[in-house]
Amino acid sequence: MHYLSVEAAQQTILQHMQTKKAICVPLHKSLGRVLAKDVLANRNHPPYDVSAMDGYAVRFADIADATKDAPARLHVVDDIRAGQMPHIKILQGRAARIMTGAATPAGIDTVVRVEDTAHDGDHVFIHRPPKQGANIRPLGENLRNGMTVLFKGDVITPGVLAILAMVKQKEVDVYGLPSVAILSTGDELEGLDDPLDEHKIPDANSHALYAQCLSLGIHATLLGIAHDNPIELRAKLVEGLNHDVLLASGGVSVGHHDFVRPTLEALGITMHFWRVAMRPGHPFAFGTSQQGTAVFGLPGNPVSSMVCFEQFVAPACKAAMGHKQLFRRTIKARLGHGIQDREGRTHFVRVTLVRDKKEYIAFSTGTQGSGVLMSMAVAEGFLVVPMNTAHLNKGDAVTIQLLQGMDFQSDADIGSINE
Ligand code: AMP
Ligand code: MG
Repeated sequence: MHYLSVEAAQQTILQHMQTKKAICVPLHKSLGRVLAKDVLANRNHPPYDVSAMDGYAVRFADIADATKDAPARLHVVDDIRAGQMPHIKILQGRAARIMTGAATPAGIDTVVRVEDTAHDGDHVFIHRPPKQGANIRPLGENLRNGMTVLFKGDVITPGVLAILAMVKQKEVDVYGLPSVAILSTGDELEGLDDPLDEHKIPDANSHALYAQCLSLGIHATLLGIAHDNPIELRAKLVEGLNHDVLLASGGVSVGHHDFVRPTLEALGITMHFWRVAMRPGHPFAFGTSQQGTAVFGLPGNPVSSMVCFEQFVAPACKAAMGHKQLFRRTIKARLGHGIQDREGRTHFVRVTLVRDKKEYIAFSTGTQGSGVLMSMAVAEGFLVVPMNTAHLNKGDAVTIQLLQGMDFQSDADIGSINE
Protein backbone atom coordinates (compact mmCIF):
# COMPACT_ATOMS: atom_id res chain seq x y z
CA MET A 1 0.00 0.00 0.00
CA HIS A 2 1.39 3.38 -1.02
CA TYR A 3 1.82 5.99 1.67
CA LEU A 4 2.15 9.57 0.53
CA SER A 5 4.73 11.85 2.18
CA VAL A 6 3.39 14.82 4.16
CA GLU A 7 4.88 17.23 1.60
CA ALA A 8 3.35 15.38 -1.38
CA ALA A 9 -0.03 15.32 0.38
CA GLN A 10 0.20 19.07 1.08
CA GLN A 11 1.04 19.76 -2.55
CA THR A 12 -1.85 17.69 -3.85
CA ILE A 13 -4.24 19.52 -1.54
CA LEU A 14 -2.95 22.97 -2.44
CA GLN A 15 -3.29 22.20 -6.16
CA HIS A 16 -7.01 21.84 -5.56
CA MET A 17 -7.52 25.01 -3.53
CA GLN A 18 -8.69 28.25 -5.10
CA THR A 19 -8.35 31.73 -3.66
CA LYS A 20 -11.74 33.15 -2.74
CA LYS A 21 -13.02 36.24 -4.56
CA ALA A 22 -12.24 39.62 -3.08
CA ILE A 23 -14.93 41.24 -0.97
CA CYS A 24 -15.31 44.51 0.89
CA VAL A 25 -15.49 44.34 4.69
CA PRO A 26 -15.77 47.03 7.38
CA LEU A 27 -12.38 48.02 8.81
CA HIS A 28 -13.01 46.38 12.18
CA LYS A 29 -13.87 43.05 10.54
CA SER A 30 -10.67 42.98 8.51
CA LEU A 31 -8.27 41.81 11.23
CA GLY A 32 -6.47 38.61 10.20
CA ARG A 33 -7.71 38.85 6.62
CA VAL A 34 -5.54 39.29 3.54
CA LEU A 35 -5.55 42.47 1.46
CA ALA A 36 -6.83 41.94 -2.07
CA LYS A 37 -5.59 45.32 -3.34
CA ASP A 38 -2.61 47.60 -2.85
CA VAL A 39 -3.37 50.55 -0.58
CA LEU A 40 -2.11 54.06 -1.41
CA ALA A 41 -1.66 56.91 1.05
CA ASN A 42 -4.20 59.66 0.36
CA ARG A 43 -2.34 62.33 2.36
CA ASN A 44 0.96 63.19 3.93
CA HIS A 45 1.39 62.31 7.55
CA PRO A 46 2.49 64.33 9.35
CA PRO A 47 1.03 66.98 7.03
CA TYR A 48 3.80 69.46 7.99
CA ASP A 49 6.92 69.36 10.15
CA VAL A 50 5.75 68.82 13.74
CA SER A 51 7.33 68.78 17.15
CA ALA A 52 7.98 65.31 18.60
CA MET A 53 8.12 66.70 22.15
CA ASP A 54 6.58 69.22 24.48
CA GLY A 55 9.24 71.92 24.61
CA TYR A 56 10.58 75.01 22.88
CA ALA A 57 11.09 75.59 19.17
CA VAL A 58 14.40 77.43 18.73
CA ARG A 59 17.11 78.43 16.29
CA PHE A 60 20.00 76.11 17.00
CA ALA A 61 22.57 78.89 16.55
CA ASP A 62 21.02 80.64 19.59
CA ILE A 63 21.56 77.71 21.94
CA ALA A 64 24.59 75.89 20.50
CA ASP A 65 26.90 77.02 23.32
CA ALA A 66 24.44 76.76 26.19
CA THR A 67 25.62 75.02 29.37
CA LYS A 68 24.18 74.57 32.83
CA ASP A 69 26.30 77.46 34.14
CA ALA A 70 25.78 79.67 31.11
CA PRO A 71 22.30 78.86 29.75
CA ALA A 72 20.89 80.48 26.64
CA ARG A 73 18.12 82.98 27.45
CA LEU A 74 15.42 83.35 24.79
CA HIS A 75 12.30 85.49 24.58
CA VAL A 76 9.18 83.30 24.26
CA VAL A 77 6.98 84.96 21.64
CA ASP A 78 4.43 82.27 20.81
CA ASP A 79 2.64 79.26 22.28
CA ILE A 80 1.78 76.65 19.63
CA ARG A 81 -0.66 73.84 20.34
CA ALA A 82 -1.35 70.68 18.34
CA GLY A 83 -3.92 71.41 15.66
CA GLN A 84 -3.02 75.15 15.49
CA MET A 85 -0.95 76.68 12.75
CA PRO A 86 1.81 79.07 13.90
CA HIS A 87 1.65 82.63 12.58
CA ILE A 88 4.89 84.15 13.82
CA LYS A 89 8.33 83.59 12.36
CA ILE A 90 10.87 83.04 15.12
CA LEU A 91 13.74 85.49 14.87
CA GLN A 92 17.16 85.46 16.52
CA GLY A 93 17.07 85.41 20.32
CA ARG A 94 13.45 84.18 20.36
CA ALA A 95 11.61 80.89 20.87
CA ALA A 96 8.08 79.47 20.80
CA ARG A 97 6.61 77.13 23.36
CA ILE A 98 5.37 74.10 21.42
CA MET A 99 3.35 70.95 22.16
CA THR A 100 3.87 67.44 20.81
CA GLY A 101 2.30 67.14 17.35
CA ALA A 102 2.09 70.93 16.81
CA ALA A 103 3.39 72.41 13.54
CA THR A 104 6.84 73.98 13.88
CA PRO A 105 7.02 77.72 13.18
CA ALA A 106 9.12 79.33 10.47
CA GLY A 107 12.63 80.32 11.45
CA ILE A 108 13.40 77.42 13.82
CA ASP A 109 15.37 74.26 13.18
CA THR A 110 15.38 72.48 16.55
CA VAL A 111 13.04 71.64 19.43
CA VAL A 112 14.39 71.50 22.99
CA ARG A 113 12.40 69.26 25.29
CA VAL A 114 10.84 70.99 28.26
CA GLU A 115 12.87 68.87 30.71
CA ASP A 116 16.07 70.60 29.53
CA THR A 117 14.74 74.10 30.13
CA ALA A 118 13.60 76.44 32.87
CA HIS A 119 11.31 79.38 32.34
CA ASP A 120 10.95 82.75 33.98
CA GLY A 121 8.07 84.96 32.86
CA ASP A 122 8.42 85.58 29.14
CA HIS A 123 11.81 83.94 28.98
CA VAL A 124 13.11 80.42 28.73
CA PHE A 125 16.56 79.25 29.84
CA ILE A 126 18.11 76.38 27.94
CA HIS A 127 20.99 74.70 29.69
CA ARG A 128 21.61 71.75 27.40
CA PRO A 129 21.39 71.94 23.60
CA PRO A 130 20.16 68.84 21.80
CA LYS A 131 21.55 68.01 18.36
CA GLN A 132 20.64 70.49 15.65
CA GLY A 133 17.33 69.40 14.08
CA ALA A 134 16.36 67.30 17.13
CA ASN A 135 12.75 66.48 18.05
CA ILE A 136 11.20 67.46 14.72
CA ARG A 137 9.16 64.94 12.75
CA PRO A 138 9.41 65.88 9.10
CA LEU A 139 6.41 66.17 6.81
CA GLY A 140 5.50 62.74 5.38
CA GLU A 141 7.74 60.80 7.77
CA ASN A 142 4.92 58.29 8.37
CA LEU A 143 2.95 58.40 5.09
CA ARG A 144 3.73 60.08 1.78
CA ASN A 145 0.77 61.05 -0.35
CA GLY A 146 0.40 58.68 -3.31
CA MET A 147 2.86 56.14 -1.95
CA THR A 148 1.86 52.45 -1.85
CA VAL A 149 1.81 51.81 1.88
CA LEU A 150 0.29 48.30 1.92
CA PHE A 151 0.37 45.57 -0.67
CA LYS A 152 -2.04 43.00 -2.01
CA GLY A 153 -1.33 39.82 -0.03
CA ASP A 154 -0.41 41.62 3.20
CA VAL A 155 -2.03 40.12 6.27
CA ILE A 156 -4.03 42.62 8.32
CA THR A 157 -2.41 42.78 11.73
CA PRO A 158 -3.35 45.43 14.31
CA GLY A 159 -0.43 47.52 12.97
CA VAL A 160 -1.67 47.21 9.38
CA LEU A 161 -5.18 48.07 10.55
CA ALA A 162 -3.80 51.25 12.10
CA ILE A 163 -2.41 52.30 8.71
CA LEU A 164 -5.75 51.51 7.05
CA ALA A 165 -7.40 53.80 9.60
CA MET A 166 -4.83 56.53 8.84
CA VAL A 167 -5.68 56.42 5.15
CA LYS A 168 -9.37 56.41 6.16
CA GLN A 169 -10.33 53.04 4.71
CA LYS A 170 -13.65 52.54 6.44
CA GLU A 171 -14.01 49.50 4.22
CA VAL A 172 -11.25 47.20 3.10
CA ASP A 173 -10.88 44.90 0.08
CA VAL A 174 -9.88 41.47 1.35
CA TYR A 175 -10.15 37.94 0.05
CA GLY A 176 -13.24 36.06 1.16
CA LEU A 177 -13.18 33.35 3.79
CA PRO A 178 -13.83 29.73 2.85
CA SER A 179 -16.99 28.32 4.39
CA VAL A 180 -16.15 25.27 6.46
CA ALA A 181 -18.48 22.52 7.73
CA ILE A 182 -17.46 20.14 10.50
CA LEU A 183 -18.85 16.66 11.07
CA SER A 184 -17.92 14.10 13.71
CA THR A 185 -18.69 10.45 13.05
CA GLY A 186 -18.96 7.48 15.41
CA ASP A 187 -21.65 5.50 17.26
CA GLU A 188 -19.73 6.03 20.50
CA LEU A 189 -19.85 9.82 20.44
CA GLU A 190 -21.79 12.02 22.83
CA GLY A 191 -22.52 15.65 21.97
CA LEU A 192 -21.76 18.62 24.21
CA ASP A 193 -25.47 19.06 25.00
CA ASP A 194 -26.26 15.35 25.46
CA PRO A 195 -26.58 14.05 29.03
CA LEU A 196 -23.40 12.43 30.34
CA ASP A 197 -23.33 8.72 29.58
CA GLU A 198 -20.25 7.03 30.97
CA HIS A 199 -20.28 4.45 28.20
CA LYS A 200 -19.86 7.11 25.55
CA ILE A 201 -16.98 9.23 24.30
CA PRO A 202 -17.42 13.01 24.36
CA ASP A 203 -17.07 14.57 20.92
CA ALA A 204 -13.92 16.64 21.21
CA ASN A 205 -13.06 16.85 17.53
CA SER A 206 -15.98 19.06 16.43
CA HIS A 207 -14.99 21.67 18.95
CA ALA A 208 -11.23 21.38 18.51
CA LEU A 209 -11.65 21.79 14.75
CA TYR A 210 -14.08 24.67 15.27
CA ALA A 211 -11.48 26.42 17.44
CA GLN A 212 -8.72 25.74 14.92
CA CYS A 213 -10.87 27.32 12.19
CA LEU A 214 -11.64 30.26 14.44
CA SER A 215 -7.94 30.88 14.99
CA LEU A 216 -7.76 31.46 11.22
CA GLY A 217 -10.72 33.82 11.43
CA ILE A 218 -13.23 31.31 10.06
CA HIS A 219 -16.56 30.67 11.82
CA ALA A 220 -17.28 27.08 10.82
CA THR A 221 -20.68 25.37 10.71
CA LEU A 222 -21.07 22.45 13.08
CA LEU A 223 -23.02 19.59 11.48
CA GLY A 224 -23.04 17.58 14.69
CA ILE A 225 -22.51 13.84 14.99
CA ALA A 226 -23.32 11.16 12.41
CA HIS A 227 -23.61 7.56 13.55
CA ASP A 228 -21.67 4.82 11.75
CA ASN A 229 -24.59 4.30 9.43
CA PRO A 230 -24.28 4.98 5.70
CA ILE A 231 -27.71 6.63 5.35
CA GLU A 232 -27.29 9.08 8.22
CA LEU A 233 -23.71 9.73 7.18
CA ARG A 234 -24.73 10.41 3.60
CA ALA A 235 -27.34 12.98 4.62
CA LYS A 236 -24.82 14.87 6.79
CA LEU A 237 -22.09 14.71 4.15
CA VAL A 238 -24.50 16.08 1.51
CA GLU A 239 -25.17 19.02 3.83
CA GLY A 240 -21.43 19.54 4.24
CA LEU A 241 -20.84 19.51 0.49
CA ASN A 242 -22.58 22.90 0.26
CA HIS A 243 -19.46 24.42 1.78
CA ASP A 244 -16.01 25.17 0.39
CA VAL A 245 -14.37 22.85 2.89
CA LEU A 246 -15.86 19.79 4.59
CA LEU A 247 -14.09 18.28 7.59
CA ALA A 248 -15.31 14.83 8.65
CA SER A 249 -13.48 13.19 11.53
CA GLY A 250 -13.50 9.47 12.33
CA GLY A 251 -14.56 6.47 10.30
CA VAL A 252 -11.94 6.97 7.63
CA SER A 253 -9.85 3.85 8.26
CA VAL A 254 -10.31 0.21 7.28
CA GLY A 255 -12.60 -0.79 10.16
CA HIS A 256 -15.80 -2.70 9.40
CA HIS A 257 -17.86 0.36 10.33
CA ASP A 258 -15.70 2.97 8.63
CA PHE A 259 -18.13 4.30 6.04
CA VAL A 260 -16.77 7.76 5.35
CA ARG A 261 -14.66 7.02 2.27
CA PRO A 262 -17.14 4.71 0.51
CA THR A 263 -19.98 7.15 1.21
CA LEU A 264 -17.98 10.07 -0.16
CA GLU A 265 -17.12 8.03 -3.25
CA ALA A 266 -20.78 7.13 -3.72
CA LEU A 267 -21.53 10.86 -3.62
CA GLY A 268 -19.16 11.40 -6.55
CA ILE A 269 -16.24 12.75 -4.56
CA THR A 270 -12.88 12.04 -6.18
CA MET A 271 -10.59 10.75 -3.45
CA HIS A 272 -7.01 11.78 -4.18
CA PHE A 273 -5.34 9.81 -1.37
CA TRP A 274 -6.09 8.38 2.02
CA ARG A 275 -2.80 7.24 3.47
CA VAL A 276 -0.10 9.66 4.56
CA ALA A 277 3.21 8.59 6.08
CA MET A 278 2.89 10.54 9.31
CA ARG A 279 2.42 10.04 13.00
CA PRO A 280 0.02 10.88 14.48
CA GLY A 281 -2.43 11.41 11.66
CA HIS A 282 -2.72 8.28 9.67
CA PRO A 283 -5.30 7.58 8.19
CA PHE A 284 -6.12 10.88 6.55
CA ALA A 285 -8.08 11.21 3.31
CA PHE A 286 -8.52 14.05 0.86
CA GLY A 287 -10.99 14.41 -1.98
CA THR A 288 -12.78 17.01 -4.08
CA SER A 289 -16.31 17.32 -5.36
CA GLN A 290 -17.20 18.50 -8.85
CA GLN A 291 -18.52 21.73 -7.33
CA GLY A 292 -15.08 22.31 -5.82
CA THR A 293 -15.62 21.34 -2.19
CA ALA A 294 -12.38 20.19 -0.59
CA VAL A 295 -13.22 17.20 1.58
CA PHE A 296 -10.91 16.19 4.41
CA GLY A 297 -11.41 12.82 6.09
CA LEU A 298 -9.62 13.33 9.39
CA PRO A 299 -8.66 10.57 11.81
CA GLY A 300 -10.97 10.08 14.78
CA ASN A 301 -8.28 10.23 17.41
CA PRO A 302 -8.43 13.79 18.74
CA VAL A 303 -4.69 14.50 18.61
CA SER A 304 -4.42 13.07 15.09
CA SER A 305 -7.36 15.15 13.95
CA MET A 306 -5.78 18.33 15.31
CA VAL A 307 -2.35 17.53 13.87
CA CYS A 308 -3.89 16.84 10.45
CA PHE A 309 -5.75 20.13 10.63
CA GLU A 310 -2.49 21.94 11.30
CA GLN A 311 -0.55 20.20 8.54
CA PHE A 312 -3.21 20.07 5.82
CA VAL A 313 -6.44 21.93 6.52
CA ALA A 314 -4.94 25.17 7.82
CA PRO A 315 -2.63 25.65 4.79
CA ALA A 316 -5.56 24.85 2.48
CA CYS A 317 -7.82 27.40 4.20
CA LYS A 318 -5.03 29.95 4.18
CA ALA A 319 -4.54 29.45 0.46
CA ALA A 320 -8.28 30.11 -0.01
CA MET A 321 -7.95 33.25 2.13
CA GLY A 322 -5.17 34.60 -0.10
CA HIS A 323 -2.31 34.11 2.36
CA LYS A 324 1.17 33.88 0.86
CA GLN A 325 2.67 32.19 3.91
CA LEU A 326 0.72 28.98 4.30
CA PHE A 327 2.77 27.16 6.90
CA ARG A 328 3.64 27.75 10.51
CA ARG A 329 6.82 29.58 11.36
CA THR A 330 9.64 27.21 12.31
CA ILE A 331 12.62 27.67 14.58
CA LYS A 332 15.66 25.59 15.39
CA ALA A 333 15.92 24.20 18.89
CA ARG A 334 18.01 21.68 20.80
CA LEU A 335 16.44 18.50 21.96
CA GLY A 336 16.24 18.19 25.75
CA HIS A 337 16.27 14.38 25.69
CA GLY A 338 16.68 11.48 23.28
CA ILE A 339 13.75 10.28 21.15
CA GLN A 340 13.35 6.76 19.83
CA ASP A 341 11.27 6.58 16.70
CA ARG A 342 10.36 4.34 13.81
CA GLU A 343 11.52 5.17 10.32
CA GLY A 344 9.13 5.60 7.46
CA ARG A 345 6.81 8.28 8.85
CA THR A 346 7.16 11.96 9.64
CA HIS A 347 6.51 12.28 13.35
CA PHE A 348 5.00 15.43 14.85
CA VAL A 349 6.06 15.29 18.48
CA ARG A 350 4.24 17.78 20.66
CA VAL A 351 6.76 19.79 22.65
CA THR A 352 7.17 22.64 25.07
CA LEU A 353 10.06 25.05 24.72
CA VAL A 354 12.39 26.35 27.40
CA ARG A 355 14.78 29.15 26.62
CA ASP A 356 18.37 28.59 27.64
CA LYS A 357 20.71 31.53 27.01
CA LYS A 358 20.71 31.83 23.22
CA GLU A 359 18.57 28.90 22.15
CA TYR A 360 15.41 27.01 22.82
CA ILE A 361 15.41 23.53 24.32
CA ALA A 362 12.50 21.31 23.28
CA PHE A 363 10.91 18.79 25.63
CA SER A 364 8.22 16.27 24.75
CA THR A 365 4.85 17.05 26.37
CA GLY A 366 4.79 13.49 27.71
CA THR A 367 2.80 10.49 26.57
CA GLN A 368 2.44 10.96 22.82
CA GLY A 369 -0.54 8.64 22.26
CA SER A 370 -2.90 9.95 19.61
CA GLY A 371 -5.76 9.86 22.10
CA VAL A 372 -3.87 11.77 24.81
CA LEU A 373 -5.20 15.27 24.29
CA MET A 374 -3.09 16.71 27.11
CA SER A 375 -0.04 16.28 24.87
CA MET A 376 -1.67 18.72 22.48
CA ALA A 377 -3.25 21.00 25.06
CA VAL A 378 0.07 22.03 26.59
CA ALA A 379 2.10 21.97 23.36
CA GLU A 380 3.91 25.09 22.17
CA GLY A 381 5.06 23.45 18.97
CA PHE A 382 5.51 20.35 16.87
CA LEU A 383 8.98 18.85 16.70
CA VAL A 384 9.24 17.47 13.19
CA VAL A 385 11.09 14.14 13.14
CA PRO A 386 11.81 13.51 9.45
CA MET A 387 10.62 10.33 7.78
CA ASN A 388 14.05 8.69 7.57
CA THR A 389 15.14 9.40 11.15
CA ALA A 390 14.94 6.54 13.63
CA HIS A 391 16.25 8.24 16.74
CA LEU A 392 17.42 11.59 17.97
CA ASN A 393 19.87 12.26 20.78
CA LYS A 394 19.77 14.80 23.57
CA GLY A 395 21.31 18.03 22.27
CA ASP A 396 20.53 17.38 18.60
CA ALA A 397 19.42 20.39 16.56
CA VAL A 398 15.76 19.96 15.63
CA THR A 399 13.11 21.91 13.73
CA ILE A 400 10.03 23.09 15.61
CA GLN A 401 6.82 24.37 14.08
CA LEU A 402 5.57 27.08 16.43
CA LEU A 403 1.94 26.75 17.45
CA GLN A 404 1.39 29.86 19.51
CA GLY A 405 -0.70 32.78 18.51
CA MET A 406 -2.38 33.92 15.35
CA ASP A 407 -0.30 32.97 12.39
CA PHE A 408 0.72 36.39 11.16
CA GLN A 409 4.42 35.66 10.79
CA SER A 410 6.30 34.18 7.86
CA ASP A 411 7.28 30.54 7.95
CA ALA A 412 10.92 31.41 7.41
CA ASP A 413 13.37 29.48 9.51
CA ILE A 414 14.60 32.13 11.90
CA GLY A 415 17.18 29.89 13.52
CA SER A 416 18.15 30.22 17.14
CA ILE A 417 17.48 33.46 18.92
CA ASN A 418 19.94 36.30 18.73
CA GLU A 419 20.07 38.37 21.88
P1 AMP B 1 -12.04 6.17 14.17
O1 AMP B 1 -11.14 7.02 13.34
O2 AMP B 1 -13.48 6.38 13.90
O3 AMP B 1 -11.64 4.72 14.08
O4 AMP B 1 -11.82 6.59 15.66
C1 AMP B 1 -10.55 6.45 16.29
C2 AMP B 1 -10.64 6.80 17.75
O5 AMP B 1 -10.97 8.17 17.90
C3 AMP B 1 -11.71 6.04 18.50
O6 AMP B 1 -11.20 5.71 19.78
C4 AMP B 1 -12.84 7.03 18.63
O7 AMP B 1 -13.64 6.82 19.75
C5 AMP B 1 -12.11 8.33 18.73
N1 AMP B 1 -12.92 9.42 18.21
C6 AMP B 1 -13.52 9.42 16.98
N2 AMP B 1 -14.18 10.57 16.79
C7 AMP B 1 -14.01 11.31 17.92
C8 AMP B 1 -14.46 12.60 18.33
N3 AMP B 1 -15.24 13.35 17.54
N4 AMP B 1 -14.10 13.05 19.57
C9 AMP B 1 -13.32 12.28 20.36
N5 AMP B 1 -12.86 11.05 20.01
C10 AMP B 1 -13.20 10.57 18.83
MG1 MG C 1 -15.20 5.46 14.39
